[in-house]
Amino acid sequence: MTHNLPLSGARLWDSLMQMARFGGLPGGGCNRQALTDADAEGRRQFIAWGEALGCAVSIDRLGNIRLLRPGRDPARKPVAIGSHLDTVPTGGKFDGVYGVLAGLEILRALHEAGAETEAPIMVIDWTNEEGARFSPPMAASEVAMGIRPEAELLATPERAGPATFGEELARTGFAGSADPAALQDLGAYFETHIEQGPVLEQEGADIGIVTHALGALTLEVTFTGRDGHVGSPMEGRADALAAASEFVLAVDRMARATDGQGIGAVTRLLLTPDARGNIPSGAWMVCSLRHHTQAGLDALVAGVTAEAKAIAALRPGIAAEVVPQWGYPQTAFDPALYGRMEAAAARRGLKARRMACPIGHDAIHVARTLPAALMFIPCHGGLSHNEAESITPEWAEAGLLVLADAVLETAGLVR
Ligand SMILES: [Zn+2]
Repeated sequence: MTHNLPLSGARLWDSLMQMARFGGLPGGGCNRQALTDADAEGRRQFIAWGEALGCAVSIDRLGNIRLLRPGRDPARKPVAIGSHLDTVPTGGKFDGVYGVLAGLEILRALHEAGAETEAPIMVIDWTNEEGARFSPPMAASEVAMGIRPEAELLATPERAGPATFGEELARTGFAGSADPAALQDLGAYFETHIEQGPVLEQEGADIGIVTHALGALTLEVTFTGRDGHVGSPMEGRADALAAASEFVLAVDRMARATDGQGIGAVTRLLLTPDARGNIPSGAWMVCSLRHHTQAGLDALVAGVTAEAKAIAALRPGIAAEVVPQWGYPQTAFDPALYGRMEAAAARRGLKARRMACPIGHDAIHVARTLPAALMFIPCHGGLSHNEAESITPEWAEAGLLVLADAVLETAGLVR
């Protein structure tokens, strides 16, 4: 479809720069971790921008903010655009924020033109996508989609402090009353995000059309041995770190042996006791595994688990425990929805390419429940979760236009 709504890349860019002031860091990035005062300020700004357009604002029990612009057909379910305004402690200006404010710019253009859509249009700011302060990430969309229990998220403690997610929602004024499960009843969901990888920039492509998300699973792996003096004989000792070291290398080796389909790494290691003169009796690790296919992920998880047990079996006094923690299955996005993005890019003379998504996004949990699409724009050097994260205004505008075309076609722009 073609339309001449007054979509403004410049206005979008200006809003991105305004949002970056909340939790702004000296190096040009942002520290706007979920439900901090800085996040609350950013959220209030987002709400103010929505109210200025006459949107109905609602906040659900998880703090997810929804701006709703009514449609002409009361029978139609909302077409939603979402992402997140929270950042990691040393984040950039664009990760997540771009997707939310691109949605806002579509509402602004509709408002300015006095245009109507058949279906309502909703813009969502998901709470705590990053999981930097309350782990795991993306839990507010996961709960909203009915996958994770609500009480579990509300009771989640912050990573370094006494407060829970629920307490911080209340403290910042974002413990809303709307039912998060209502978001399962959307007609369609669109998310656009910076790629957080180098492919689009390297290929000179404007748009990444995401066909599927790699399945992901995080494991907690613990090797337990026996505490002892570091000077005691090698014979008879049970060194948990020596076993853990073999495991770290095994994960790397097994992920590399998947023909480029799998990804795996140990990302955290904590020792007990963590003391200069002691043989480590405990080694606790976080192991992250991803794969393009669900069968491949299942095989990688089984292989890594068996390897942990095998390493322990070869070392007297060592025991291994592997506990699955958090993840999501391999998830396909909706071909009809991403086909609209692909067609929109072609009509506008933009270069799009299909790709998979190895990184978690709220769109993945939504896609497990209802038709959803995820689209990427380039970012310089693939750099993200870094204060120096950057994009060009041209990339931002190209993504906005493609997103808008697909959303308006789905919602039915009234002529
Ligand atoms: Zn993000």
